[in-house]
Amino acid sequence: MDYLLERVKDHIYVVAVWDAEWNTYTNAYLIQEEAGLTVVDSCKEEHVVFLQHALNKIGKTSDDVKLMLVTHGHEDHVGGATLFTNARKVIHADETLPVASSISGKLLERGTIGDYEYTRVGYHSPGSVIFFHRPTRTLFTGDFLCFFGDPLSDGGLVSKGDDLRQAWIEYLQGGGVAKLDLPVFLNGLRIMQEYDPDVMCTGHGGVLVGDLDVFLEELITIGDKDK
Ligand SMILES: [Zn+2]
Ligand SMILES: [Zn+2]
Repeated sequence: MDYLLERVKDHIYVVAVWDAEWNTYTNAYLIQEEAGLTVVDSCKEEHVVFLQHALNKIGKTSDDVKLMLVTHGHEDHVGGATLFTNARKVIHADETLPVASSISGKLLERGTIGDYEYTRVGYHSPGSVIFFHRPTRTLFTGDFLCFFGDPLSDGGLVSKGDDLRQAWIEYLQGGGVAKLDLPVFLNGLRIMQEYDPDVMCTGHGGVLVGDLDVFLEELITIGDKDK
């Protein structure tokens, strides 16, 4: 099976599917809670087989999923949504979905849904949202901050990811975020800083743990200089 399943923290799991067409890992997350199972994002439609397999491995099925949180409307994040017929599925109202979808745009600028707080960050796509699971201090960043097309960290899928952090710093230093987008990007980083996460679950590849305040501060410092 071309995917990895790893425990991130407590009852949170990452499913990292290898997408040979786009040459990247694409992540979805499974969170076991008393209220039921939550998924964050769902990879592409053709990846549902991996999601089902991963769910079975933790003793669940797609029917156990009660809530689906969607970071943004791109096909590699919403494609598997059809699998979760018992779930309430939410996305920000400003997002455009690729096809007719069972996901309804209800999220606002900022709010709470179950154990999750969310804020619209609006970088990468207009209604992109980050979700913060306060009980475990885990932040789901979608593609606002991700490792699209990058290999996994030498430390593994879930790790401090110093090599990935360094690559992101160099990307930002090299003008990877367009000047026009920098204010929105920096604003999003500050929102992340306020949440003060222990874990950063990204939309593609690496899941980062440890010293995230340092990483965010480094990115903000570089961005501020370029503004
Ligand atoms: Zn995207
Ligand atoms: Zn993506």
